[in-house]
Amino acid sequence: MKKAFKVSDKTIGIPRAMSFYHDYPFYHGFFAALGIKVVLSDSTTKQTLNEGSKLVVSETCLPVKIYIGHVLNLLDKGVDKILVPSMQSVAHKVYNCSKIRGLPDLVRNVIKKDFTIVEAVLDKSEKNNGFYEFLSEVARYYGIRDKAKIKKASKAGWRVYNNFKMMMKSGMHYEKAMNYALSGKVFIEERTKEHPISIAIVSHGYNIYDERASMKVFDKLEGMDVRVFSALQLSDEQMNDGLRMLSQGLYWANECEMSGAAGFYLKDTRVDGLVTISAFGCGPDSLMIERITRKAKQFSKPVLNLTIDEHTGEAGFITRIEAFVDMLYRQKRARLVDIDLRANEISGLGVGTENFIEARGDDWREGAQNSFSDGVDIA
Ligand code: SF4
Repeated sequence: MKKAFKVSDKTIGIPRAMSFYHDYPFYHGFFAALGIKVVLSDSTTKQTLNEGSKLVVSETCLPVKIYIGHVLNLLDKGVDKILVPSMQSVAHKVYNCSKIRGLPDLVRNVIKKDFTIVEAVLDKSEKNNGFYEFLSEVARYYGIRDKAKIKKASKAGWRVYNNFKMMMKSGMHYEKAMNYALSGKVFIEERTKEHPISIAIVSHGYNIYDERASMKVFDKLEGMDVRVFSALQLSDEQMNDGLRMLSQGLYWANECEMSGAAGFYLKDTRVDGLVTISAFGCGPDSLMIERITRKAKQFSKPVLNLTIDEHTGEAGFITRIEAFVDMLYRQKRARLVDIDLRANEISGLGVGTENFIEARGDDWREGAQNSFSDGVDIA
């Protein structure tokens, strides 16, 4: 058993999985203000995934398997109070998927060890238990009942979270924005670099910011000179706008970051195509992706649908992304050539194509188009 720190009654373990990728800046500020030390699990490794997978049935989605592995990692570090929130319903008649709702029960049933699950409930539908009640319940595990103190801590949490979101919206990389926010700093990044291709990744934070699960998809795309957008760069209003565009009511709690982001980026002229990434066996995502793919046809925007599980091979995953980027590049180039030709017909002048071809190179991804037919959905 590794004990790299002193475990005290005022310590809470937070698994680096599931909602961590969205909520952690808030928790960081909140627990610090309450004087509670946070211990995070280590980044996901093959071992995290293997150990988590061993304890659950194989049909369980990849993020939940990873989550179980992270709880084990915290126990291995000697942490005996672990936050496993019971996130039932985030707004009236808006629910999380059954796997997220049942997470505390799952953890309790598959991990037969002596530890405390800090299991506060957020349920805006059946119990009208909002976020403040949720935070008060968490604080009670540490004997803190002072309402003013909890409210003050909540404000501190929102401050860190809002700074994080502001930096993400400016286009800053996830890790960088997270590190700045956690150290109490705010920088707004001005992005001046032009990219020949822009892609919006439509997925949950836990599928794309966990580098093991996503196979570093952001780095891979940026290595191909692609500008990448995601839901974390959008405001709630923009995602709601995207939902309306898809004519979709809100039922799933994470519908905003999937359908809302997709709807917004479909009509965003900066974006050339969408890549959806979902975990194998995820019911809510398969419904949402079906609708996104159909709607994309109206916008003539290509969509690549990728599914991940613990058996996903990195080589095949990357090959499909490369083929998709290559197709977007060729499509855009053809469009620019077409515009050039028409402009030449009118005025005898060319516009911009040469610069685009030069920026991208014409032979940069040999053979990628050969695998293009394998599973790329072109809407
Ligand atoms: S939304 Fe999908 S991927 Fe996320 S926990 Fe539920 S089933 Fe798993």
